[in-house]
Amino acid sequence: MPDLLTHLNPEQRAAVTLPDEPALILAGAGSGKTRVLTTRIAWLIQAGRFSPAEVLAVTFTNKAAREMITRLTALLPINPRGMWIGTFHGLCNRLLRVHCREAGLPATFQILDIADQLSALKRLLKGLNIDDEKYPPKHLQNFINHAKEEGLRPAKVDARDHFNRQFVELYEAYEVQCQREGTVDFAELLLRSYELLARDTSLRAHYQARFQHILVDEFQDTNRLQYQWLKLLAGPKGAVFAVGDDDQSIYGFRGANVGNMVDFQREFEVRNLIKLEQNYRSHGHILDAANSLIANNAQRLGKNLFTEAGAGEPVRVYRAETDTREAAWLAEEVRALIDQGSALDEIALLYRSNAQSRVFEHMLVSQGIPYRVYGGLRFFERQETKHALAYLRLLDNLDDDTSFVRVVNFPTRGIGARALEQLSDMARQHQCSLAAAVPYVAGKSGTNLTAFIQLIEHMRIATQAMGLPETVEYITQTSGLLKHYETEREGQDRIENLRELVNAAVAFMTEGGYELATPARSIPLAPGATPAAQLLADEAAQLILTAEVTDMMTPLAAFLSHASLEAGDNQAQAGQNAVQLMTVHAAKGLEFNAVFITGLEEGLFPHQNSTADTNSLEEERRLLYVAITRAKVRLYLSFAQSRMLHGQTRYNVCSRFIDELPVEVLKWLTPKRDSFGQNSLTGNRGESGWGRNWFGKKSAPEERVATTAFEARQRTAATGFWVGQAVFHTKFGEGKVVALEGSGDDARAQVTFNRHGTKWLALAVAKLQPIDE
Ligand code: ATP
Ligand code: MG
Repeated sequence: MPDLLTHLNPEQRAAVTLPDEPALILAGAGSGKTRVLTTRIAWLIQAGRFSPAEVLAVTFTNKAAREMITRLTALLPINPRGMWIGTFHGLCNRLLRVHCREAGLPATFQILDIADQLSALKRLLKGLNIDDEKYPPKHLQNFINHAKEEGLRPAKVDARDHFNRQFVELYEAYEVQCQREGTVDFAELLLRSYELLARDTSLRAHYQARFQHILVDEFQDTNRLQYQWLKLLAGPKGAVFAVGDDDQSIYGFRGANVGNMVDFQREFEVRNLIKLEQNYRSHGHILDAANSLIANNAQRLGKNLFTEAGAGEPVRVYRAETDTREAAWLAEEVRALIDQGSALDEIALLYRSNAQSRVFEHMLVSQGIPYRVYGGLRFFERQETKHALAYLRLLDNLDDDTSFVRVVNFPTRGIGARALEQLSDMARQHQCSLAAAVPYVAGKSGTNLTAFIQLIEHMRIATQAMGLPETVEYITQTSGLLKHYETEREGQDRIENLRELVNAAVAFMTEGGYELATPARSIPLAPGATPAAQLLADEAAQLILTAEVTDMMTPLAAFLSHASLEAGDNQAQAGQNAVQLMTVHAAKGLEFNAVFITGLEEGLFPHQNSTADTNSLEEERRLLYVAITRAKVRLYLSFAQSRMLHGQTRYNVCSRFIDELPVEVLKWLTPKRDSFGQNSLTGNRGESGWGRNWFGKKSAPEERVATTAFEARQRTAATGFWVGQAVFHTKFGEGKVVALEGSGDDARAQVTFNRHGTKWLALAVAKLQPIDE
């Protein structure tokens, strides 16, 4: 038996071995909260008092959940398949699958991701002839999701004015539509399972008895409904073990409530409050930067963080003239890190909003550096993937109108907008799904629609005995998708992605512990187990409840849920060694050797919507705190003076947050303009500890000097000027430096003057003066 406690400090050990009572571990970034939580699960199981089935652990992202399972299985040789470890959405989905009947859902219910939900709403508005300019679908979507996150059904929503009343009515109509189509959106997963537990006392009692331990990571970001859900599940004994950091609460804009931490302490009468103060992740200068930044926030519960790791490298700051320059510098710097031996996936590029990633991607592609984007348009959200998934969904549920509409005429089958309108009318008239309304449509449209239904029927029969990967492959062919993309000019990528979907299915089966050939659409059974269908029919609730949940789902249903829930993870690329690109929000809980935080500009980070109000500004500051504390060894901050965003060029000033960092830990890679309006070239302050090679290699002396390609080049061009700088020449007037070369007496600058064109000037003689813009 491995000793689980040896790699913990005394406070962490105390936390891991707390009695079976409510506990709160309140601690800053990198102090080992997640390590403590994972070790506690292992410890509870190893001590033999609890079985894996009696533990439920919830975390925030799929990536974090997977990480937790990896850490856990490294500590203890257990099969995690039966364990309830996942995100709130994932766990609720699981609960609803087992109890679909009690929850009033069809066994084959499908999950709508954000984009699916939006198209379902657009379809709803269209069907009701409602002006979507007056009632924008996106607003309606926010309205509905917000209400659900507050736990409110339409009847409970306060309809103050006409506008609101209309929204409430649409919310109601949307619910009817979802119910008819057998679909469930993200917020619904949570609300539905909350209501189920609240309503069904015997079910609740069962789960309360079953889950002896509930562990929650990133507790500061739970919203009201999630907290209530946890409360229901925990029951009166309430052995909830929550870990969190109020300084990392970054989902306030989506209803997360730090107040849950305070309420939790009061309502659960928490006697065990443990603070962890040693940071094991980041070197000293990085931690200093994080600590002094967050000290500017007034709303804090108050914690300290220290490290024994030594000061380490300074925090590098880079000012670029444009976003393109920022990206070019970044790609160059990444290349230098790789050349020095860094693993690709130990480098992260973080940004405030998804739109920023495009220019980085472009530069990385041109440098031939493999990268992986989390968020943005993900694998499972791409058009071709969604088309294929829609066919797969229809195999199980022809009433899924969202999927029906998506592929009924894709590839084209002569079913135009008119035919669809006719079909919708019929469906409305007969109060049925689109598929069920097909027989009511006459003429050529009717024939084409019937042919489509027959195609799906044919697929359904043909795939009956096929395994999941084979099924996926079969439908991409039979549907005509592959053929369609073959004829498209830029279809090659899409074809690749359809092939990746087959790989994703293989990976899903292997990771889920299924036999590859298990028929995708029948419920797989462990040898000797009671058939699940029989269990479902069985009135003895106890039997249903103890059955293994994943065994109650067909591989296809499990795969489809996975595809909808797996927001942000590209299964097909998992494990590939690549530079990691993501928003700061997506980086929560993760760590990397080198981190670039980009776009540190007023209006972008902090975001412009937040600067007027203290609460939002504090949330932005926490967001930067999260970003900074992802870095273990090397941290870069960068900003661009001008940036193309949403089709417009914006001129920016540097983020106020940079001014909140201690100057002694910063190292400016570009000249910093200080308050006297003078430029200092390198600002090599805080270089202590620099000699240590951060990859653990013994560093040669020259490596210490030429730290990176960029710095080396800057030094050769050590002229006191930089590209993009505004300058004044006595004869030519004002202009801008566009290039620099040489050094010392040979240094030359290429300057584009406002009125005299572009000229090369020898700096030793030209008497060029920098000017403040
Ligand atoms: P965050 O707030 O960012 O989620 P966290 O508090 O969850 O951070 P962890 O991710 O658990 O922190 O730990 C940060 C790093 O420190 C990890 O690499 C972890 O393995 C390491 N670590 C934690 N505790 C110790 C310890 N006692 N000894 C050595 N390393 C540790
Ligand atoms: Mg953590």
